[in-house]
Amino acid sequence: MIRLTLWTFSLLTSFLMAGPIIVIDPGHGGANHKHKTDGSQKGHGSSWNNAYAATGGHLEKNLALEYSQEIAKALAASPRAQKLGAKAILTRTADTPISAMGRAAIAVENTARIFLSLHFNGSSSHTAEGTRGYVCSKDHPHWEYMHFLNPYIDRDRAFSDKVIKSVATALQPFGGDPSKAKTIGDSKTDGGHLKDGIRTLGFARQDTHLYQAVIMLLEVEFIDNPKISNWLLGPETRVKARQAVAAAIVTAICDHLENDTPPTAPRKAKNAN
Ligand SMILES: [Zn+2]
Repeated sequence: MIRLTLWTFSLLTSFLMAGPIIVIDPGHGGANHKHKTDGSQKGHGSSWNNAYAATGGHLEKNLALEYSQEIAKALAASPRAQKLGAKAILTRTADTPISAMGRAAIAVENTARIFLSLHFNGSSSHTAEGTRGYVCSKDHPHWEYMHFLNPYIDRDRAFSDKVIKSVATALQPFGGDPSKAKTIGDSKTDGGHLKDGIRTLGFARQDTHLYQAVIMLLEVEFIDNPKISNWLLGPETRVKARQAVAAAIVTAICDHLENDTPPTAPRKAKNAN
């Protein structure tokens, strides 16, 4: 009886002490199927690859996986993260396709405290630069299939700002410009960017009424810009830049977790449908 009670107690304690789960989502993955696009609702809402590096032949999908694995490694090794009991789960660990809904579902199933989708950017002019954070705006006026409010927009935006500043500052010694980093929302009144990968955030946000995760999409830099690609992906700097970004993200995550008190009771967004 005593043993059972102790066992029950320890089980209860381990449940209560379970640390925050950080779901890291490496964008894209898998082979090229033309019907899969991020820019429409066709396919699975997640394309195999978007941005192509200007140098070195790198694909966004592979860099996203490399960086995500580096973040998971850095989180596991971080004394601060260990103290918090934070653990990383990746939505994919190989070059495999996964739908936007599937990515969101992993965050939901694991009751993630933070869902961070990781991407690299490209622009039509191939000259854009800067770290970008994307968040679900308070409202989604032009997403007819996702009518909901994000009651956590202020918190999500603060987290995104923290992450992009931390990442851009970490990249400054390599050639980055922190003044070009910014957070953008997805409603017209909030930056108005219906961007690749935001669908994943939308699905996750729609489901996370149940547990109020912090959700953001990070575009580390514009890899199609030769100027950026040269210092971000050059043979001398590639690994160091990746490690610097991973450390910066872990710092931002720990800063957030140490100061954030998650809501204790699940709550539904007012106009969720
Ligand atoms: Zn992408």
